[in-house]
Amino acid sequence: MDYDVKGNLRKILNDLPEGVKLVAVSKYHPADYIMAAYDEGQRIFGESHEQEIRQKVDVLPKDIEWHFIGHLQTNKVKYIAPYIHMIDAVDSMKLLREINKQALKNNRVINVLLELHIAEEETKYGFSLDACREMLDGGEWRQLHNVRICGLMMMASNVDDDDIIRREMTLAADFFDEMKAKHFADDPSFCERSWGMSHDYPIALKCRTTMVRIGTSIFGPRVY
Ligand SMILES: *Cc1c(COP(=O)(O)O)cnc(C)c1O
Repeated sequence: MDYDVKGNLRKILNDLPEGVKLVAVSKYHPADYIMAAYDEGQRIFGESHEQEIRQKVDVLPKDIEWHFIGHLQTNKVKYIAPYIHMIDAVDSMKLLREINKQALKNNRVINVLLELHIAEEETKYGFSLDACREMLDGGEWRQLHNVRICGLMMMASNVDDDDIIRREMTLAADFFDEMKAKHFADDPSFCERSWGMSHDYPIALKCRTTMVRIGTSIFGPRVY
């Protein structure tokens, strides 16, 4: 292993205040890297490809909580539904319906986050704030008893300007408060604000994140 996974992980965990969870993003990294982090006590790992995660689930300890963090195609939901702990990037009502359907088939409830599109980049998936408002106002999600909406996630613009990143994360946090008050005031499950990656998690910690998703700073650069 070229990378000091355990040392990197300890350093990041030291930076995180009480109550902020770490999703260790292990996509494109081998199972022995995951085991190194696991041996340090890490239990939450994030993956973004269905085939890759399936192979890892088969060989790794059963008490790992797997998060699906990437864009998820509707036709892939059935493969991950039996074991996935949380689907972090739900970006359409259609996907939410399909997750509910597959969760029901597996007789379980799947945790999800709604992905917001706030960054300038065209390539990012997610609901605009207006689309997310409209979706939650619509109320159909209340009938989907096999999904649990646990909060919001977003990726800030990939820029060097901290002010832009801070502005986007603050907008997301304020939007969280608005949705919490309007739709989830009585629902303690709706509590997660997932933003902050390797390059911008120190900013996220100042912008009310509860769940950072960090890959490169733990496992090193990915080889695609
Ligand atoms: C890959 C990925 C990350 C981790 O990015 P790093 O820069 O390696 O920390 C976080 N969130 C999502 C959605 C990702 O796809």
